[in-house]
Amino acid sequence: MSEIAYLNGEFLPLDKAHVSVLDRGFIFGDGVYEVIPVYSRRPFRLPEHLRRLQHSLDAIRLANPMTDAEWTRLIHDLVGRHAGEDQSIYLQVTRGVARRDHAFPVEARQTVFMMSSPLATPARELIDNGVACITATDYRWLKCDVKSVSLVGNCLLRQSAAEAGAAEVVLFRDGYLTEASASNVFAVRNGKLLAPPKNHLILPGITYDVVLELAAACAIPIELREIPEQEVRSADELWVTSSTKEVLAVVTLDGRPIATGKPGPVFRRVHQAFQEFKRKVMRQAA
Ligand code: PMP
Repeated sequence: MSEIAYLNGEFLPLDKAHVSVLDRGFIFGDGVYEVIPVYSRRPFRLPEHLRRLQHSLDAIRLANPMTDAEWTRLIHDLVGRHAGEDQSIYLQVTRGVARRDHAFPVEARQTVFMMSSPLATPARELIDNGVACITATDYRWLKCDVKSVSLVGNCLLRQSAAEAGAAEVVLFRDGYLTEASASNVFAVRNGKLLAPPKNHLILPGITYDVVLELAAACAIPIELREIPEQEVRSADELWVTSSTKEVLAVVTLDGRPIATGKPGPVFRRVHQAFQEFKRKVMRQAA
C-alpha cells in the first residue's frame, strides 16, 4: 500500500500524485520547501518552520497559498494518516503550471505538495563515533537563506561526499565557513561554541537555533562570527546539525582528525541536552 500524500487540495496515494511537466518546479526549480521532523506524532518547532517557509516564499516573490492555521491543520492531518510515531514531513510550494517563460506567469496557481516519510534519526554508532566529512568551495548562489528546491549545487556537493565515503561536505566561501550541503556547521575552540552568523550565505537552520538555545542553557559561551577555514581545521570539535541528523560530531575532515578524532565533551553535553529536550517535547505530546 502506498503512503498518503497531499497535492493541491487532496489526499491521495503517493504513487498517484502527479504534477504537470510544465510545472515551474520541474522546469525551473522555481519553488521552495520545508522538512519538518515529527516526534511522537507532534511536529517539532512547527511555527518556526512556517516562519522560514514564509521567508523563502517572500524571497522568491510567491504568495503563501495558505495561512499558518491552514498549514498546521493539514500537517496534523497528514501526520494522522501515517502510522509512525516519528515522521519527516516534506512540503513544497512551486509557482505552478504555465507555458515555459522565465518571467513569472500572470495566472498560475501555486502547486502545493506534502508527503510523510519515517524519521530516521542517527544510529547510536554515529553518535558515539562521529562522522567523516570532506570540504569543498561553496559555489552555490548568494541566496542560501532561501530554502529553494533548486538544489543541484547541493546535490553535486553531497555526491562528492558520498563518493568519498563521507557524511557531509563542509563548505568554505572566500576562506570562511558557511555550512554543509544539507546541514549547519558549528566549531568548538577553547570551550567556546562558534557558529557563522545567520545571513544570506547559510540556511537559517531550525536545529541551529535549538543547538544555540541548548548551549546557552548549558552555560556554554557562544560566539556568532565569521570563522576562517584554518579555525575549522584546527578546531577542538566540529559538529553538523539538521532536522534529521540532529547534532553529530565530525571526527575527520578530508581524512585528517579533528583534535583527538573522537566526539568531544561539549558535543556530548549538547547532544544529551538535545535528547532530554526531545523527551520533554514528547511528554508534552502524551
Ligand atoms: N543548511 C542546509 C543547506 C540544509 O539543507 C539544511 C537542512 N534543511 C540545514 C542547513 C539544516 O536546517 P534544519 O536544521 O532546519 O534542518
